[in-house]
Parts: sequence; C-alpha cells; structure tokens
Amino acid sequence: MPKSILVVGASRGLGLGLVAEHLKRGCDVIATVRKPADEPALKVLPGTERLTIHHLDVTSDADIARLAADLPGPIDVVFINAGVSGPRSVTGASPDELNAVMQANVFGPIRLAHALSDKVREQTGVLALMSSIMGSIGENTSGGMEVYRATKTAQNSFARSLWLGSARSRGVTVLSIHPGWVKTDMGGAGADIDVQTSATGMADQLAAHAGSHAHRFIDYSGREIAW
Ligand code: NAP
Repeated sequence: MPKSILVVGASRGLGLGLVAEHLKRGCDVIATVRKPADEPALKVLPGTERLTIHHLDVTSDADIARLAADLPGPIDVVFINAGVSGPRSVTGASPDELNAVMQANVFGPIRLAHALSDKVREQTGVLALMSSIMGSIGENTSGGMEVYRATKTAQNSFARSLWLGSARSRGVTVLSIHPGWVKTDMGGAGADIDVQTSATGMADQLAAHAGSHAHRFIDYSGREIAW
C-alpha cells in the first residue's frame, strides 16, 4: 500500500475519485487542479488533513517546473490522470485543435512525467499514466475516435521510452492504465462502471504492481491490454 500519492488532474471525474480513494486508505495525497475554484470539491473529502493541493496545467512548462521544484520527495505513486477527448476525426479538425489535444494528452503528461520521475521512490515507486484501451492498436476492432486513440497510443510509446531511459534503472514501475469505461464528464452517463469501482480497482493495481519494475499496459482490474 503506498503511503503517498500525487494525482494530477484531480478537479473531477477519475482524478477526484483517485484522491478520495487514497485518502480513504490513509495515504498522504497531493492533488493538482488548474483553478482555485476547483479546490472545494477536494476540501470536502474525508481525510483532508492529509491532502495538499497544487495548481498545474499539464501543457504549461512553467507550471511543470514549479511543481517539480515545490514537490517533496520521494513519493510512492505519481499518477498523471489529466486528459481531454479532443476532436473526433483528424480531417474534421484544425491544426490548432489537433495540436491542443496532443499537448494535453501526450506532450504535457510526458514532459511532466520526466520532470517528476526522480521524485518517485526508488525500487518500490510507481509512475502511472492514464491511458485508455482506445490507445491499443491490437484491440482496436471498431475504429472511431481516431485522434483520441492516437494520443493515447503515443503516450504509451513515450511511457515505454521513459521507463527504458530513466525509470527502470531506479527500479521504478511504469503503468499505462485503462480505467475502464467510466461514468464521468468524458465517459458519459451510459458508461459501464462508476468512478468508485474504477478508482478502487486502480488503487489495488497500484499497490499490487509496486516493486515489479516493469512497464505494463493494464486496466483497472489488472487485465493486460495488447499494445
Ligand atoms: P473528465 O471528467 O473530463 O476529467 C478530466 C480531468 O483532466 C479534469 O480534472 C480536468 O481538469 C483535467 N485536465 C484536462 N486537461 C488538463 C490540463 N491541460 N491540465 C491539467 N488538467 C487537465 O474525464 P475522466 O473521465 O475523469 O478522465 C480522466 C482520464 O481518464 C483522462 O486521461 C481520460 O483520457 C482517461 N480515460 C477516461 C475514460 C472514461 O471512460 N471516463 C476511459 C479511458 C480513459 P479541468 O476540470 O480543469 O478541466
């Protein structure tokens, strides 16, 4: 069981659920939101005496540098959850719209992961990135959401390079996690599972994979997903 976790993108949805679940489990939690107006949703959670809130937009290099400088280390789990769905098709979007989703889902999260990677505890620490089964090329049998899919595929690829480049030599485990299809603003009301089910499952997986020293693509129940 991790003693400390950083959750990036915790204003609502799965990020907020991960914060609530880890406070419930007795962890010290650091959460990031973009706007001060999003802090009240976190401050009403049970266990907030163990919660610290920082402000960060993953697409801002200045925010990334500030968080890296302010963050105490070592931390047991760094979980980069922030993400957007972006435009539906590559041909129906402008270059600016395509750049924006790449910055939010790929370059921002990965540059943040690099900036924080040496804060993750050696040997037992976990660096988790919120991926999606939509990023799996092997399990893409339906098409659709092609831009979002490609961002998560690219994020997975960068995560593998980060693991090989700096995390593995420190014994840090890297997880690319699919949370399930979850009822959030992004997943919609018709999704399969609720935030609590997903957050509980992901928290169990973070604990189970600590010390495994691998880079895995798994879902909230631990199922291995094809790259
Ligand atoms: P959500 O309810 O829309 O929440 C998205 C979160 O990401 C919010 O906290 C949002 O903050 C934050 N965020 C977006 N852009 C950001 C940025 N540039 N900097 C910092 N934070 C940013 O969606 P969700 O369903 O919880 O999704 C969370 C993650 O799970 C995403 O990476 C998503 O791709 C992934 N995922 C979700 C599902 C699903 O079924 N829901 C399935 C697979 C993967 P603001 O409130 O400030 O916008």
